[in-house]
Amino acid sequence: MSEYLWHCPFCNTDQTVSEAGRHAVFADLSIENAEGPRRLVVKYVVCPNPRCREFSLSASLHTLEIVGNRSYTGKHLKSWNLVPPSRARSFPVSVPEAVLEDYREACLLQGLSAKTAAALARRCLSSMLRDFWRVQPGSLSDELRQVKGTVDPLTWEAIESVRNTGRIGARMEGESAEVRETEEGEAQLLIGLIETLIVDWYVAREERRKRLEEIRQIAGKGLQNARPE
Ligand SMILES: [Zn+2]
Repeated sequence: MSEYLWHCPFCNTDQTVSEAGRHAVFADLSIENAEGPRRLVVKYVVCPNPRCREFSLSASLHTLEIVGNRSYTGKHLKSWNLVPPSRARSFPVSVPEAVLEDYREACLLQGLSAKTAAALARRCLSSMLRDFWRVQPGSLSDELRQVKGTVDPLTWEAIESVRNTGRIGARMEGESAEVRETEEGEAQLLIGLIETLIVDWYVAREERRKRLEEIRQIAGKGLQNARPE
């Protein structure tokens, strides 16, 4: 793998890492077993930020597709965050505690129970919609529909791309008594969406507030200077 963008969970910054730059090592392990050909990818990354240099360790299991004498990494089956134990990010702004709690728990349970992690992620999305956009409570799908046309078009595109993946959209229609099958990738997609929306909504709002405050201060000073003695 060449250079790629990576988010450090310790110093909370985006970094470009590469094997050549000695920031990352990928071990690729394949072995025949009862479930069929599997590929285990172990990722060991050291943060290039000189003030951080912490290491992260994770593993993911995929199917192994064999075509002729070449093999390819197939469907993602499972991930384990080993160091740090959860992929949960911290955010530089205040986000309601209920949202953060569900988000962190979803991250922590992702590798243990995809079903619980996905359910927590859906509840987290719903709490965000109710807190940030004051939507009328309904099924998650209904609540999302209420912000269509209000949220930034790119944000809506991100929401739609997750909704249209597999059976995620159907599960957003409402939690029924039947136990629904959840795929591992689903929790991961929903958690990714939560992170995108926290940045697009809470972080962006805070940055806008700071910018306006600066303008107000500059304008205030300007007026003071312009005042006759
Ligand atoms: Zn770092």
